[in-house]
Amino acid sequence: MRAPHDQHFLVDTEAVERISGYADVSGRNVLEIGPGKGILTESLLRKGARVIAVELDGKLVPYLEKRFSGEVKSGNLTIVHGDAIRCEIPDFDLVVANLPYSASSKITFRLIGMGFEEAVLMYQKEFAMKMMALPGTSECGRLSVMVQTYAKVMPLLELLPSSFSPKPKVKSYVVRLTLKDELTYPINNRELYAIIVRELFSHRRKTIRKAVNISKNNIGIDESERILSCVSEDILKKRPQELTLKEFAELSNTASG
Ligand code: SAM
Repeated sequence: MRAPHDQHFLVDTEAVERISGYADVSGRNVLEIGPGKGILTESLLRKGARVIAVELDGKLVPYLEKRFSGEVKSGNLTIVHGDAIRCEIPDFDLVVANLPYSASSKITFRLIGMGFEEAVLMYQKEFAMKMMALPGTSECGRLSVMVQTYAKVMPLLELLPSSFSPKPKVKSYVVRLTLKDELTYPINNRELYAIIVRELFSHRRKTIRKAVNISKNNIGIDESERILSCVSEDILKKRPQELTLKEFAELSNTASG
């Protein structure tokens, strides 16, 4: 299995304690993606978590198995050698992880699809800011809409490059994700919703009317026709970053018929 390039290990023990302390992990099944050399794993285990650690790098797995042999034996730690984007993951309640930045988006969407009570996740700062950008503002993008449709995102902690070794070029940011039990604006067809959000943001300078016309084949001919003939002019003349979550839901529900 190919080892990823984005290996910047946390060395700031104070930050590690704060991150593992943001969730009430004692006695819970906690998923950690990308444990690396295990600095966060150790802190989670010390706080009483049962950890499931998914690590892609085949060289780090035997290192972790040796470092935590007692916890593996007692069943408090399960190490999965695999790609968190697609591998099988045992049941978990919470997620606490310093995510591999190159796979942040795919892993976040997979986690949202799988469901969890709460997730404390570290991202590249820029990515976290995009996740938190409010719909209706110029910073808003596909990621902001897709995450905020299904989850509440709360900022927790900024980390400087000096907290890692080797030092990355970018700052990092820890956020709390809580899934919405009930969506604020219900969506009839989640697959279609994801396609529409993706297609509209791939033409973010165009109005909704133009973007739908360009993406007709990807959205679906009937679905596009329903949008163009039934959605209000007010929405059709906006650009995707100007739409609210309510308007995205309305657009998608109209398309699904
Ligand atoms: N949690 C550790 C720490 O804070 O020191 C390491 C974090 S490092 C940024 C990311 C870790 O994720 C690395 O150990 C890397 O091998 C692992 N990784 C990268 N891509 C992965 C994937 N798709 N699935 C699981 N682990 C992955």
